[in-house]
Parts: sequence; structure tokens; C-alpha cells
Amino acid sequence: MIVQSIDLLNYRNIDELHAEFSSGFNVIYGENAQGKSNLLEAIYALAFLKSFRDEKIANLIKFGGQRAVLSASVVEGNRQLRLGLEFFQKTRKAYVNGALVSKFNDYLGLLRAILFVPSDVAMLQNPPLVRRTMLDRMVFTLRPSYLIPMMQYQKVIKQKSAVLRLEVPDTTLLDAYDDQLRGLGTELIAARLDYLRRLQPFIAQAFSHIFGENRHCAIGYKSATYRDEIRFDEAAQMPRDEDVCAAYIANLATSRDKEIDRRQVASGPHRDDWTLYIDGNAARYFASQGQQRALCIALKIAEILCLKNEAQIEPILLLDDISSELDPIRHQNLFQFLNQLTGQIFLTTTSKSHVHIDSIGRLFHIQNGILFGES
Ligand code: ATP
Ligand code: MG
Repeated sequence: MIVQSIDLLNYRNIDELHAEFSSGFNVIYGENAQGKSNLLEAIYALAFLKSFRDEKIANLIKFGGQRAVLSASVVEGNRQLRLGLEFFQKTRKAYVNGALVSKFNDYLGLLRAILFVPSDVAMLQNPPLVRRTMLDRMVFTLRPSYLIPMMQYQKVIKQKSAVLRLEVPDTTLLDAYDDQLRGLGTELIAARLDYLRRLQPFIAQAFSHIFGENRHCAIGYKSATYRDEIRFDEAAQMPRDEDVCAAYIANLATSRDKEIDRRQVASGPHRDDWTLYIDGNAARYFASQGQQRALCIALKIAEILCLKNEAQIEPILLLDDISSELDPIRHQNLFQFLNQLTGQIFLTTTSKSHVHIDSIGRLFHIQNGILFGES
């Protein structure tokens, strides 16, 4: 998948911009507050219809403006697509080949992108909700159809929570919600387990490339309704997905009194969590800062390798400001590894000297929202 070009109008601090990109490495350098992240964010928005920084659409429009317009020419195999987006103060519109999209679900997934931003490094320390959202987004990037059960599940949880907060909850209604949750919840758990199982070899590979051959990285998933944590590097000891799902269903069936008592929905995939281990130790507690950074970047690269391997799709990689993430050796290892990737990469940095790439496809300088192609 390649973004051949983009056009922006009134996006953040960018008045008007047209850029043609390389199918390999695109490096955007510039001083602080010039628009590097804004440009990456615009590409991200063309993939996900939203920002990675801000929930408010209005903030994406240039100060004082009414509308931001984004478009991109995207090639995948022999398919060429023109993606378009308009952000208004409160709404957004998406276009494919000039035609307005009526359901955003039809648009999402057309441009697959994997993003790394420095704040991702906190993912191990963040509350479970942040990690769950990250996992759900990873599953969705591999299988866009995951979005539907995921959104339905969240909706039913919300509806059920509202009923449980009533003075006298309607048990017939609760039964109806549980009927839906049984199917949706197991679908979510099964999809997450399936994804993490596929991701495991790739994260182990990427982490040892960046951090050192003898270091082993493993993924763990803790279902709130299953007794043990599931470790994906221990294939022999892994429970069957059906058993983990069955434990969720059993919990749902026996939790009604507790739910009414506490006025709260029982456990389920909305309470599950996952984490990473280095050589058997939970990275959250034992990994050094540098190891946590390497893990986080390895996770992004693993996502790409997994997508390529499982779906024959090569997503674009957006790396925002990785300059300060690693020591010189790990930095070098990372770039050696990035050099081996065949997909399109967008990388922003404050200095060209941070970039150790054999062949930069295109180099851009950004200043005050204006992009200058240098090669
Ligand atoms: P750094 O190296 O510090 O990360 P950057 O080049 O990534 O810098 P950006 O995050 O892209 O910087 O932001 C560039 C500028 O865009 C900032 O000065 C910010 O205030 C400005 N900006 C953000 N939103 C808007 C907006 N809606 N309208 C106009 N300017 C905006
Ligand atoms: Mg930035």
C-alpha cells in the first residue's frame, strides 16, 4: 500500500500543501512546532478518519477556518484510490474516488497505517483501557470486519450499564442484553487471542533485532473471566480459545445478582488486559526505559510483519519523532531493521542526522507549515 501524494487545505498550521511521496522512505525534518506531527497526523486521519491526538474534530481545522480538506492518492497492487476527507466544526465527510461515503465502515480499512508516536512508549504503564484500545485497533487493522462486533459490544455494555443503574432494573431487558453479549463478547475474545497468537513470533523477532539476539519478548493476555494469564510463547500450555470463551459465558450467567447489587456490568472483554514480557519478566515492572522504548517500536514493526504475513497487505508506517528514543546501538539496530522492510515509511525528525537509512526515497523540510522537497 502506497500513498503516492496528498493534498491538504487548512489543516492545523498547514494552509495548503501538495506532496508527492516515495514508495520507500520519506523523511520529514524540521524544528519544533513546524508541522511535522501535523503532516503525519493528516496521513493518519486519511486512514482512520480521526486524529491520533485529539478527539475534537474542530481542532484539526486551521485556527479561524471553517473546513479542512484532505485527500490522498493511494495505490494497492493494481488498484488506485482517491481518498478524500472534509472536517467541519462538528462533522466530517469521507469520499472515495469523489463519491461521498455513506457509512464510515466502508471507508475504514482502505488505507492501512501503523503509527508510532513517542507517547506510545507509556503504553505499558498506561491504564488497561489504553492498552485495550491499542489491541482492538491492531486487531481491526488486520481484520477491518472486527470493527462491527467491537462497536456493538461497546454499545450493548453501555445500554446494559444504564439499565443496571435504574432503581429497579428490568431483568427481561438484562436477559436480552446478555444474549447479545454472549455472542459479541466471545467474538471479541476469540479475535484478540487469535491476533496475539499470530503477533507473538513477529514481536519476538523484532525485539531481538533491536535489542539483542539473546533477548526474548512474549505477549500475555489476562482475561478478567479466565483464571490464568495466557502466554503466547508457551504454545504447549496455552488453553484452548473455546475454554477462555466458555469461562466468559459462565461468568456472565452467574453474575446477575452481583451486577444488580453493584449496579455494574460483570467482567468481560471490556475489562481484559494484555502485556509484554522480556525474558519472562513483566516489562511494565522490570524493563528499563530503553527496553520499553525498543519494545514499543518492536510492537509496531511486528504489526507490519504480521499484516504482511497474514493478509499480504503492506501497511504504511508512520514514525513520529523517534530521534530520542534509543541509545546509538539500538538506534542503529532499529534503522538496520527498518532498512529491511519493503513498505512505505514516513518518518519525522528534528534533525537529518538522526536518520540512518541507506536510501532515503524523498527528503522534505517543513517550516511553518510549508513543505519543501529537498530530494
Ligand atoms: P515537535 O518537533 O515539537 O514535535 P512538530 O513539528 O511536530 O513539532 P506540530 O505538532 O506539527 O509540530 O505543530 C506545529 C504547530 O501547529 C504548533 O505550533 C501548533 O500550535 C500548531 N497548531 C496546532 N493546531 C493548530 C490549528 N488548528 N491551527 C493552526 N495551528 C495549529
Ligand atoms: Mg511533533
